Amino acid sequence: HAKRTGKGRYEVFRPEMQEAFEKTVNLATELRRALERDEFVVYYQPICTLADGKLVGLEALVRWRHPTRGMVTPMEFIPAAEDTEMIIPIGHRVLRQACRSAFEWNQQRTPAGLPELTVHVNVSTRQLRGDVAKSVADVLRETGLAASRLVLEITESHQALDLTQVCHQLQRLKDLGVGLAIDDFGTGFSSLLALRQFPIDTIKMDKSFVDDLDEHSDRSDLARAIVQLGRTVRRDVIAEGIESDRQRRALLDCGCRLGQGYLFGKPLDHVATTALVSETRFTAGLHRHAGAH
Ligand code: C2E
Ligand code: MG
Ligand code: MG
Ligand code: MG
Repeated sequence: HAKRTGKGRYEVFRPEMQEAFEKTVNLATELRRALERDEFVVYYQPICTLADGKLVGLEALVRWRHPTRGMVTPMEFIPAAEDTEMIIPIGHRVLRQACRSAFEWNQQRTPAGLPELTVHVNVSTRQLRGDVAKSVADVLRETGLAASRLVLEITESHQALDLTQVCHQLQRLKDLGVGLAIDDFGTGFSSLLALRQFPIDTIKMDKSFVDDLDEHSDRSDLARAIVQLGRTVRRDVIAEGIESDRQRRALLDCGCRLGQGYLFGKPLDHVATTALVSETRFTAGLHRHAGAH
């Protein structure tokens, strides 16, 4: 086979191209099989108030429980899932599982006098090429979860995006009443432009800015500036990847109210999350002093 490449030049179909093509096909097959065998599992990480470590929400994070390779992280298969379009059915599965669980957890919490939780689900811009608003509306109807209890974290896919299409889909999601967050704020497209163009209500400050808060460096000013920016444009700010109490206090000092990170808790499986959400006295990540609180 030969392919026309313009200006009368022809490119021969090389064996490398065949190999790359076969690799993609194999991955697509593997991901589809994993979906059929129900190998994708959802973990949940606590989102807490920085002041008192109270649980306010959970972020759903997918993992692939591979029969031979063990637990595969999203970084290892999400890009391939995007390339093969398998991200659409996988994303739908994660969304349905997360909404169903959040509905059940809130049903346990309300009678115990605990506030309802909000569940955060990651959506890559690649998924916005499909009719994600319809898929979200269907899942909310099916699971009974209120739209206001769902936040979609918009994450940049490694492929080029069509801004007009993204804006259109985000507006349709907004109209459903779900919350929209911009993930990894401060990196890539997740910047000021996104803040101006997309109808988002929450900023997730990228972990790299939180990391800067640990040393005495002038870079810690950036984390403070992002928190102030959020206040100015009236968006909630959730700090990602908080690992130390010092970072928690620094964020609190500059007016950040919410965060997540290993300090509060690592992502947990469904069983462990069920136990966590029904704890009436759960406060995470704080040095507890006898008699305090
Ligand atoms: P993200 O949405 O920014 O999620 C935060 C990531 O940081 C998670 O990694 C989480 O486990 C990790 N993390 C949280 N706190 C800490 C901390 O204190 N220290 C450190 N070192 N790491 C922390 P994870 O679960 O491996 O997910 C990686 C990325 O994969 C996510 O980044 C998100 O972009 C993507 N992803 C995960 N689940 C999904 C999904 O269902 N759909 C899509 N499209 N993307 C997903
Ligand atoms: Mg996220
Ligand atoms: Mg991300
Ligand atoms: Mg992030």
